Amino acid sequence: MRVQHDIVIVGAGLAGLRAAIAAAEKNKNLSIAIISKTYPIRCHSVCAEGGTAAVLREDEGDSFDLHAWDTVKGSDFLADQDAVEFFVREIPREILLLDNWGCPWSRREDGKIAQRAFGGQSFNRTVFAKDRTGLHEVHTLYERSLMYPNIVRYDEYFLTNLIIEDNEIRGVTAIELKTGDLILFEAKAVILATGGAGRLYGFTTYSHQVTGDGMAIAYRCGIPLKDMEFFQFHPTGLVPSGILISEAARGEGGYLRNKFGERFMEKYAPERMELAPRDVVARAMWKEIIEGRGFESEHGAYIALDLTHLGEEKIEERLPLIREAAKKFVGIDPVEEPLPVRPVAHYTMGGIHTNMWTETPVKGLFAAGEVACVSIHGANRLGSNSTAECLVFGRVAGEKAAEYAMRKDLKHVSNEIYKEEEKRIYDEFLGKSGDESPYQIKKELNEVMDKCFWIFRTGEEMKEGIKKIRELKERYKNVEIVDKKRRFNTDLIYAFEVGFMLDLAEVVAVCAYARTESRGAHYRLDYPNRDDENWLKHSLAYYTPQGPKLEYIPVKITKWKPVERKY
Ligand SMILES: Cc1cc2nc3c(=O)[nH]c(=O)nc-3n(C[C@H](O)[C@H](O)[C@H](O)COP(=O)(O)OP(=O)(O)OC[C@H]3O[C@@H](n4cnc5c(N)ncnc54)[C@H](O)[C@@H]3O)c2cc1C
Repeated sequence: MRVQHDIVIVGAGLAGLRAAIAAAEKNKNLSIAIISKTYPIRCHSVCAEGGTAAVLREDEGDSFDLHAWDTVKGSDFLADQDAVEFFVREIPREILLLDNWGCPWSRREDGKIAQRAFGGQSFNRTVFAKDRTGLHEVHTLYERSLMYPNIVRYDEYFLTNLIIEDNEIRGVTAIELKTGDLILFEAKAVILATGGAGRLYGFTTYSHQVTGDGMAIAYRCGIPLKDMEFFQFHPTGLVPSGILISEAARGEGGYLRNKFGERFMEKYAPERMELAPRDVVARAMWKEIIEGRGFESEHGAYIALDLTHLGEEKIEERLPLIREAAKKFVGIDPVEEPLPVRPVAHYTMGGIHTNMWTETPVKGLFAAGEVACVSIHGANRLGSNSTAECLVFGRVAGEKAAEYAMRKDLKHVSNEIYKEEEKRIYDEFLGKSGDESPYQIKKELNEVMDKCFWIFRTGEEMKEGIKKIRELKERYKNVEIVDKKRRFNTDLIYAFEVGFMLDLAEVVAVCAYARTESRGAHYRLDYPNRDDENWLKHSLAYYTPQGPKLEYIPVKITKWKPVERKY
């Protein structure tokens, strides 16, 4: 089956929904499709807890320059500063728009939108809706999107490929899960908003759906991935599940303590303490653990996150979700006892290479949100800058795609292309037999990533990791999908996702091994210093059948020369 739209947006998280609204507002005559493998209000963005950074209080001492500086310093100077400067100026408008559209932001006593402290932000600028910020943001955008008759949704459709001819986008193919039919979507412009790749790791805060599909598909189509070696480890994943305990817990005044009861952050970041950026805090916690100052448990070592001094009223008012999650999943009420936490894989700083207008190297193809690397986070994202990024660059992508589509005619895709994709999926992939299980391969992939590409990395271990990933890729050629039916075949989807993750893991691994320095979240014990002379540059990974080919491009510096990072 074949359908036509002016713009196809893949992904219905914060970035995709924001893009759809922006495109619909740009021109009510454009036909806009949103494709997503999960129902929109089950997208991963609903998990965002702590908040969204924005400068709202210049009268009280905040400024765009301060937000930009915090972001650039937090990025360990790898962010493109022109994009950061644009980003910080645009986000306040998004906060007010969401306010107008009904987002229930938490308020101060004087009725103004409340803001809280977050790591690496030198002003309390994180706007929030209790600790359910993402949920409320997604619901607000979702409800708003229903007002535009020119937005059509395809819920539970799984993207399988991009169609590109003469370096110009022609459309995408996706499986309708309910029927198993392959649908050809022809479009003048496409926006990828498919989120990050966090399920590469086993101990992670991500939902199971975050498997890097859009990144991997773009990469296989020849579009470079940027800065993939930089993966964020959030300091406070609940042990043993990895469920996130938001940075808001420390923003509201929580302490981290080792088994001697010490607030050890005073050794590592004496000024910012628990509110240093995530790379700094996660490394400090891991060091405490490997040097034997963590608590022991049957689920491994952990650090205590102590909120008991905040009191029940504040915890209930500001952190109700965390309290509920802790009670449900570990049977601990944070009002009474500290929570067991340790660093956890949390955010993909890298992604599809775009410029600051969300344009990829392919004409008519845009990318926004966590799937993209614009790049404003560089080597380490500051907490609450990601939902902000989705809103700002989701809007930009929607507007740019609309402008592009208004200038173009729809070009038809040949039937052969559709037939080839159908054959690839159903005959060559679903139809083949083999003796490997995608579930086993995924399990082993997670083990390699958790071991060899974690917080502290070494050349030797990473080399071993690359070898193992390549063995897994070989074994993957031999997977068999047990369920052979087409309708709602979750086995098939899982096997696709594992294939995507194997390619992305190889990119993360090869980029990390090549970068012989420590910067932001990429810390090498064998190269412990930042090396601006050789490495103040972005990595670009291009697909080749033998593995990623790397190139480098300069970082854009406008105002802020790299200096030593102290907190
Ligand atoms: C637990 C947690 C808490 C967080 N809290 C915060 C916070 O407080 N503040 C902050 O700034 N950031 C936070 N983050 C980060 C932030 O939530 C994410 O970076 C952001 O929400 C990503 O949004 P997105 O729109 O790019 O992607 P997502 O919300 O992941 O949406 C991706 C969409 O793409 C669709 N999709 C994916 N693959 C396919 C496919 N093959 N076919 C069709 N559709 C597909 C999915 O169905 C989904 O609709 C948090 C992250 C985690 C893990």
